[in-house]
Amino acid sequence: MGAAPERGPFDGPSRGGVDVTGRSVRRVAVIEGDDSAPEAVRPVVELIDGLSLGIDWVYPLVGDAAIEASGSALPPASREMIDAADTTLFGSSSGSSSEALIYLRWGKETYANERPCRFLEGARSVLADPHRIDFVIVRENLEDLYVGVEGDLDTLGPLAAKDRSGRPLAASGPGRFAIKTTTVAGSERVIRHAFELARRRQRTGRVTCTAKTNMLPATDGLFTDIARTIAGQYPDIEFETLIIDDFACRMVRDPKRFDVVVMPNLYGDILSDGAAGLVGGLGLAPSGCYGDTYAYFEPAHGTAPDIAGTNTINPTATLLSACMMLRHIGIPDAADALTKAVERIYAEGRHLTPDQGGSATATAFCKAVAGRM
Ligand code: ATP
Repeated sequence: MGAAPERGPFDGPSRGGVDVTGRSVRRVAVIEGDDSAPEAVRPVVELIDGLSLGIDWVYPLVGDAAIEASGSALPPASREMIDAADTTLFGSSSGSSSEALIYLRWGKETYANERPCRFLEGARSVLADPHRIDFVIVRENLEDLYVGVEGDLDTLGPLAAKDRSGRPLAASGPGRFAIKTTTVAGSERVIRHAFELARRRQRTGRVTCTAKTNMLPATDGLFTDIARTIAGQYPDIEFETLIIDDFACRMVRDPKRFDVVVMPNLYGDILSDGAAGLVGGLGLAPSGCYGDTYAYFEPAHGTAPDIAGTNTINPTATLLSACMMLRHIGIPDAADALTKAVERIYAEGRHLTPDQGGSATATAFCKAVAGRM
């Protein structure tokens, strides 16, 4: 964030056409999400819409409302709307609207999840010295334990799989398994994305690859070996590998040494929430999911169901995700201006939401940001 560009592979003509003045119109599909998520997405869209950037917002029907209207959580018309848009801004889902998320990730092959961790002066960090923390976790987004293949252990009999003691897994009694996959192509593309990001960020110029290579040499070992090979093609970027538990400790003790950190899916999901905790919490953690032909943007947090209906969700994560989106669709100046306005609001400290020690609503926060533009 800030000076760090989060550009993706958007390079074609806008799918939104042009307006009457000949200006290119970007079409953004908005999926507001569930529980508290709409309370963050709505004021953020209103704020950006107020900047008159020539964005055409479209709203695919998903989840329960779509089931009621058409019997499907993601009907073909909604899928087509997502496809026809330049990008999607996604709140956060629970329940039936998760089908839209599955389509945005696996359907659109958005394999690289960038989760920036940057301290905003004035945010409520637990660290004594959080100033200038600025790194990005690049999480592989489609493979690993998230391929979603789980089952009963007794179905593994034909595989004759054994545990480390040599006992057949299927004979361990009732229980379950989950499959973790690491492919060469899936690892290469996300690792390359991390190196390209390190080049664009122009900071330390360092990529850290982290996984549990000592316990999982076949899968995590492959991921790290591929990173080592790709590192050879980026002599301008420093490269290191760390075991994931060591990384977790270093991330807390010395977060400023990191620039871009690439890791398999599950570790990235967990550690990016940990990283958010360093700089003020989930309310400040944006994310962008990039593929070769599509990207979508969503806050790193979930739907915050415990505060739904109170208008107290911190919309910063959604707003900074929208800034990543604006850069991706070729409107970087607005993204920079919005980011600067958010920084001013945090520095002033008068319009912050309850998670940051303030009493502002999500709506009031966004209005205050609009006032600093
Ligand atoms: P998921 O499983 O989808 O990641 P979760 O159930 O683990 O979601 P979150 O929805 O991310 O968790 O919420 C975890 C806690 O953080 C909750 O107490 C929630 O209210 C709080 N929280 C999350 N996002 C925000 C936010 N933007 N503003 C304020 N509090 C938030």
